[in-house]
Amino acid sequence: MKREVIVGQYRIDAAQMVAWEYACEPEKCEERDEYCCARFEVDISRTEMERMTGLMPASARYAPTLMQGRTPVNVFDEFDDDPRRFVIDKNDAGDCVFTFVAAGEKRCALHAACLEIGLDPMKEKPLPCRIWPLTIGDKDPDGKIHVGFDLASNPVCLTKKRRDRKKVSPGVRELLTGLLGKRADAAIRGIEGE
Ligand code: SF4
Ligand code: SF4
Repeated sequence: MKREVIVGQYRIDAAQMVAWEYACEPEKCEERDEYCCARFEVDISRTEMERMTGLMPASARYAPTLMQGRTPVNVFDEFDDDPRRFVIDKNDAGDCVFTFVAAGEKRCALHAACLEIGLDPMKEKPLPCRIWPLTIGDKDPDGKIHVGFDLASNPVCLTKKRRDRKKVSPGVRELLTGLLGKRADAAIRGIEGE
């Protein structure tokens, strides 16, 4: 089995992709207070910021603080003095400002708004939100960018597999598709050593 698979600019940690299963179960986050939308800075591109801003009127039905009257509130700050990158603000509780609570669980207003107006959240949400706990690292000296799980943060949505460590589980397949789109199938074949 290959340990890494190169897809375009990405170097994917193949061993991790077959060793873990992924399932989002927000109730686990509530128990451990490890909700992803509270723990991390979400670093997004200008295009993603503009797309989110366009969806703020619809998102404000769930998270009203996103709008002031008819005007979207500026909830984005420049990231690392890079005018092309932005981070999403947090609210007073330390959660992303797009979060809201429904049935005792924190949820994403952007996701809810997309579903309500017939858009695919997995196309509209920014990349880090679509692929967590898959993370995109810095560029290696050869220009490739490392992609793997942020195991150091102990994500509650990852479970170490006990068997079948040659196949990519459905949840991980979904994350890879979020990152790679149509290239995911070929990447998964490479990861599985076919
Ligand atoms: S992706 Fe993981 S950390 Fe985020 S809500 Fe789901 S279970 Fe929780
Ligand atoms: S935009 Fe949505 S998914 Fe992304 S961090 Fe904020 S609440 Fe979470």
